[in-house]
Order: sequence, then structure tokens, then C-alpha cells
Amino acid sequence: MRNGLSKDLIARVLGAAPKYTLEELEKKYPLRQLEEGALVTRFAPSPTGYMHLGNLYSALISYKLATQSNGLFLLRIEDTDTKREIKEAVDIVINALAKFGIRNNNDISSDYGPFYQSQRKDVYHSVAAYLLERGLAYPCFLTQEEMDEIREKQSLAGLATGIYGEFARDRDISEEEIIKHLDNGETPSIRLYSNGNPENRIYFKDFVRGSISIPENNEDIVIIKSTDRLPTYHFAHLCDDHFMRITHVVRGEEYFGTLALHIQMFRMMGWQLPNYIHTATLDKIDEETGKQRKMSKRKDPENNVAFFMEQGWPAGAVIEYLGNILAPGYEEAKLKGQVKSFWDYELKPKKIPASGSLFDMKKLEWWAKEYIATLSVPDLVKSVVDWANEYGNEDNKKQVSDINYLTSVLSIERDNPKRIRKDFITWQQTLKEVSYFWDFLFTPNREYEYNINALREFLATYDAKDDKDTWWQKIVYTAEKLGLKPGEIAMNLRVAMTGRTNTPDLYSLMQVLGGERVRERVNFIL
Ligand code: GLU
Repeated sequence: MRNGLSKDLIARVLGAAPKYTLEELEKKYPLRQLEEGALVTRFAPSPTGYMHLGNLYSALISYKLATQSNGLFLLRIEDTDTKREIKEAVDIVINALAKFGIRNNNDISSDYGPFYQSQRKDVYHSVAAYLLERGLAYPCFLTQEEMDEIREKQSLAGLATGIYGEFARDRDISEEEIIKHLDNGETPSIRLYSNGNPENRIYFKDFVRGSISIPENNEDIVIIKSTDRLPTYHFAHLCDDHFMRITHVVRGEEYFGTLALHIQMFRMMGWQLPNYIHTATLDKIDEETGKQRKMSKRKDPENNVAFFMEQGWPAGAVIEYLGNILAPGYEEAKLKGQVKSFWDYELKPKKIPASGSLFDMKKLEWWAKEYIATLSVPDLVKSVVDWANEYGNEDNKKQVSDINYLTSVLSIERDNPKRIRKDFITWQQTLKEVSYFWDFLFTPNREYEYNINALREFLATYDAKDDKDTWWQKIVYTAEKLGLKPGEIAMNLRVAMTGRTNTPDLYSLMQVLGGERVRERVNFIL
């Protein structure tokens, strides 16, 4: 500990007197009255305009833990460290979460707001003042050049870099010196007066990783920046997780490295540490090396959540698959019919994987097919239409312009619950899969060696009003007459109708195409 600063000096180093005392803040944000076992979690993105799959994964865990315990899930925007256009970047996050069915409870928890860190300066400054007054923080007037010099010296000497111990020039700065710097027009950063020693270890229990010990922190990290007097991440999250009364913090394992510092700060404040869940990264199999590796922003389009929206992956399927990654055992429970969706499955925090989990697009395909197969026709149609209108190209938009026709197309092979077709994977691919139903997208197959007689004979007997039995009898009759198998006639028709040799039920698709189109397509081949 060092000498605390006087109230006047604190106001000068912070730019203004703090608005609250700690007691006032404790009253302003009281302990929550929730039912026993209710978890309060938060998703705290920095608005960069890009949402990682890993972010969605963490948000899903936080949201699930809150909802399944009748707790609260908050969205906190960590915008103290970005020079970008915030509004647009925040909209990207909110929009993505909504698409994946993740809703926050900020409205019913508004007494604990605001939820933009840039609007909580009063809270951070009040807590910083508390530390300054007790000699647990100090103003630091090191310039960027001076810090660069220190870093260089440390590197040359093979020492850990940073402002700590003997390198923390202003650690024990006197009031007189502080005043001199201030009179000189300098704005200090506020640094933590670290009492840690890396030779000692801190013991800690992570929900996912269990008990671990890590070396103490000795760095006098910046808590309030000199440039804009906003807090750093470390300090802001300390104040916010405490005063928002967060019980469980879910975040990526990249924060593991600064955990000792975070624990140290909670202890300095005498605050209870929230429970931490440090999640593992999501990995993929590298296409070139065949080895498992972390997803990369640069190489992997699927690392960006926008990719799934743009390509029309069913959000529900992405959630189901992510849910299965974080709750091993979910798939089995689902296959056994014990639960209908991940939302109904109890997520046990202790079972969340602690090391690199594989996110495999092939597996996602399976979840997507299964998921789409459970949708009712109106839900399927709505999803496809919404996607096409938001993300589709001009052709897609034309395909969804006649909802009745689209509904008939998408109704094929969906009436028998035991035999629902499973060839739809994404909304984009669904429209491609059924594209032959639209004349402007249909390309006749010119390679296929048609049996012209078979097509001609069929056409002579064809009546669009025939029921399925009559239609089939006519095919059998034509086949007998020509000495062919009925299947051969059907195949000729199938290729003439669709250009493909593999399609869903031929009779149904001809019914949807309608008599006129059927004749046109056969005549075209003839
Ligand atoms: N703003 C941090 C991020 O975007 C949040 C870390 C946390 O959840 O504490 O990674």
C-alpha cells in the first residue's frame, strides 16, 4: 500500500470529483432478490462489427444457464475501447442474437443499467476514487516514449515486460510531484498499485476446469486510461460484474491469462468473485493438413456468425449443434425422444468441454437436415421466404414471390411423418434443390438418352386430373405396350420434368408442375 490521495487531488487526477461513494453504489445496485438458484449471466461483446462463432457459443451458454434457472441474461456493450461506428456494430450483435433466439433481459433489469460501458463512467470513476483514496491505485505520468523505452530495456535484459516493481516509476509518487505534473497540463492514467508476487500462487476454482493455481499478478495495470479517462476492460468488467450482480461469467479461455489480475482486484475491493466458466475454443479440421486447429478469422468463413445467416443455415440447427457440443449427451437424449430441443435440455456447467471442441460443417449438415425435417410446411415456407427476402439474390426473390406455388413445391414428401424428405440443408440450398419448378431456372437435360417413344406414348394417355393409381396404371400399360419396364418410363419422365435422375416422388412433383408445364417439358424433348 502507498499513501492515499486527498479528495481534492483525486478530483484533479480524475478530471472531476467522483459522483458516488462506494456505499451509495452498493445501494444504487442492491443485491438482487431472485429465487434460489437463479443465475445472472451476461454476454459482453466489444462492438467490432464482427461476431465470432465463439461469441455465439459463449452467449448461448450464458443465456441457457440464465433461462433454465429462471435467472437473468444481460447484454452489456463493452465499448470503451473502440474507435469504430458503435451503433452499426451493436445492431449486428443484437440482430444476430435475435436470429438465434437469444433474448436479453436488459429491460426488466434496467435499474442495473445503463448497459453501455461508455455510459457508466461515473461508476468506474467512483470505484477508482475509492482505490486512490486508499493507496491501492495511483496516477501515472509515464509518456508513451518512456514506456517504450522501459519495454525495450526489459526485452534486452530478458525480463517480463510491463509496468511493475522497480519499472513502475510513479508507483510511490508524492503529492507534490503529482501536483507538478498536473500544473504542467499532463493527464495521468490511473494504475493499480499491485501487491502481487508472481512467485506466489493464487488458488481458484473454475466451473469447467476445476481447481487450479496460477501465479499472482505484479503488474500495475492501467485501470483508467489517460487518453479518454475511460476504464480498461479489466477494470470495467470488475465494476460491472459486481454492480450488475452477475453470478456466472462465461467467457473465452483467452481471458485465462489475466485471471490472476481479476481475482486480485476483486479481493482488493473486498467483493465476492463471480463464478467463472472459461470456455474452450471452437476448432475445425484443417482442409490441407487434416489436423484439428483453432478457427481463424482470416481463413474460415464459418468463424463469422454472419456466414450462417447469409447462407441460410437454419438458426435452430446451429443452436442444436452448438448445444450438443457444449452438452455432451444431448444428442442421445434427443434421439431417445426425452427432449425436443436443446432449450428443454438441462445444461450442466461442469460438463461443458474444457478443451478444443470440434465444429464440423459436415455434422452441422446432419443437424440441419434433421431440424428442417421437423418443421411444418408453413414454418418451412416462412423461413425460406424470410431468408430470400433478406439475403437471397434476384432469382431467389422471384421464387418466393408466389407463396401458394412455393408452398405446393415445399409440401412434397412432407405428409407422412415417417418419411419426411431429408435433402434440405439451408434455405439457400433448398431453393436451389427445387429450382426446376420454375421455368426461368429450369434447364432441360440434353445429355440424357431419352426413349422418345416412351415419352410420346405417355403423353398420348396423360391427363393431369388422373389420381396416382390411374397415372401409374397408364405408365404400366405404356411400358407393356413398348416392351419396357415401368421404371424406365418413369425415369424418362423424371429427367424430362426435372433434368435430374434423382428427385422426390414423381407423381407429386408432376401434380405441382401442372398439366401445362408437363406437356411443355415433354414436348420440348420430343
Ligand atoms: N468484451 C469482451 C470480449 O468481447 C468480453 C469478455 C468477457 O466476457 O468478460 O471479448
